[in-house]
Amino acid sequence: MRRKFISAAVLASVLLSGCSEKSGTSGGTISSSETGSVGSSQSTQSVKTTQSSQSSKSGAPTVIAPNFQGSSWQNAGQNSSSTIPETPDEPSVSETPGETSSNTVPNTPTVPSDMFNKVSVNKGETIMIADQLHVESGTLYSVEGDMIVDDGASLVVDDGGYLSISGKLVISDAGEFVISEGGCLAMTNDNAVIEGGCIRMETDFGRLSCEHGTITSQIIPPERKVVDGVTTVGGVVIANKAIKLPPEYGSHLSLNEVEPQVYEALVEMNNDAVHEYINKSGYRSYYDQVAIFQNYCDMYGYEEADTFSSHAGHSEHQTGLTMDLDSFSESYGATPEGIWLAENCWRYGFIIRYPKGKEDITGYTYEPWHVRWLGKSTAKLVFDSGLTLEEFLNVEGGWTVID
Ligand SMILES: [Zn+2]
Repeated sequence: MRRKFISAAVLASVLLSGCSEKSGTSGGTISSSETGSVGSSQSTQSVKTTQSSQSSKSGAPTVIAPNFQGSSWQNAGQNSSSTIPETPDEPSVSETPGETSSNTVPNTPTVPSDMFNKVSVNKGETIMIADQLHVESGTLYSVEGDMIVDDGASLVVDDGGYLSISGKLVISDAGEFVISEGGCLAMTNDNAVIEGGCIRMETDFGRLSCEHGTITSQIIPPERKVVDGVTTVGGVVIANKAIKLPPEYGSHLSLNEVEPQVYEALVEMNNDAVHEYINKSGYRSYYDQVAIFQNYCDMYGYEEADTFSSHAGHSEHQTGLTMDLDSFSESYGATPEGIWLAENCWRYGFIIRYPKGKEDITGYTYEPWHVRWLGKSTAKLVFDSGLTLEEFLNVEGGWTVID
């Protein structure tokens, strides 16, 4: 058994000095002044490491995936542990406060390369968190090997902390991974995997960057915020029949315009797709929607109009983050263009907002043409979850209009 029980402080010291794990002292303690900034409460941090080379494989924790030594793993990890990972390329959004920023998923913050203390779990190494590990402010924790959050243990990324994963993070069912307000997790490699347990978000979804890699853990969204009548969860603005937007929201846009990042995403998608998707309907103001709904009521009666048209303030088109593409026919979903859109739009930051079979949750009939922009990372999280946006954000929906 070569498993070591060392504090995070010792680990930091060992890895930062470039020594092997042999220099770690079992159960040893080193004061934080000697070790940089990996946790100020070192005594509560218990971390086990194990070398998972062939010779010591039997000593590795049993939770390691069977394919840990597989060829795909060996070829993984384009990021060297000695380099800061690039900031994930979410579409750029305004940093200025106000309507525009409340519309959007925020960028993952840039890592200031000169201020970070770096801790690395190298390929072939496994780190076991038995109690609690804080990735504190000013620390980049780079995981190319495996990290296991044991039963009842927690991994917390604090404000200003940055956890980069190109390897595998396994959270046991009773373990928890918390991304604090201001903390940041970036999955930097398509082979990165987080599985098991739950990830509790206390911050905007833009701080959980998983355009690469896969997350199968349950994701618990942060508390909703309501600011000036606008409801957001983790930076994602929500409008449905139960949750409305205030009348002036989005009024900087013109009819059928969309926010710049949405337009850029459409252009990118059209560059890749065989088919050119056409925006048939983008932003609609509150007052446009008043007129549209009234018009439908005149044509079909209130009951009928209510099944497919929104009351003012409840249309997602008022966000400026939504487009109706190509067609308004349900059969569009069975065309090659409609199928490609449903399968691939997440790659560009979109989701099919009103899927078939989820009508009672979204409060809308199936609309294979209606896409909502969330940003690439968040759209991938929602797509991979198989949930509607209401379910993913844990907000109310349904058919009943709550004005
Ligand atoms: Zn629509």
